[in-house]
Amino acid sequence: MSNFNKPAAPQRRRFVRRKGCRFCADKTLKIDYKETKNLRYFISERGKIVPRRISGNCAAHQRKVNEAIKRARNIALLPFTASHSMD
Ligand SMILES: [Zn+2]
Repeated sequence: MSNFNKPAAPQRRRFVRRKGCRFCADKTLKIDYKETKNLRYFISERGKIVPRRISGNCAAHQRKVNEAIKRARNIALLPFTASHSMD
C-alpha cells in the first residue's frame, strides 16, 4: 500500500464559511439604518439584500438587517425638504 496515487481531498468551499451570525458573535455590532457601512455588507452589487444562507446571519438578525436596509433606502429616496417644511 502506498499513498502515491491517492486522490486529492475534494475542496469544498463554495462560500467563505463564516462562524455564523456576525451580530451574535459580536455584540458591539449595531444594526442601524444609519450605519450604512455595516449594512452595505449585506447588500449585493445590484442593490439586493444578500440572502441569509450567504450572509450567515441568524433569522432574527437577518430580519433586523432587512428592516434597516429598507429604512435606509426609504430615507435615501426621500428628498431633503427641510427648508420647505419648516414654517
Ligand atoms: Zn444573530
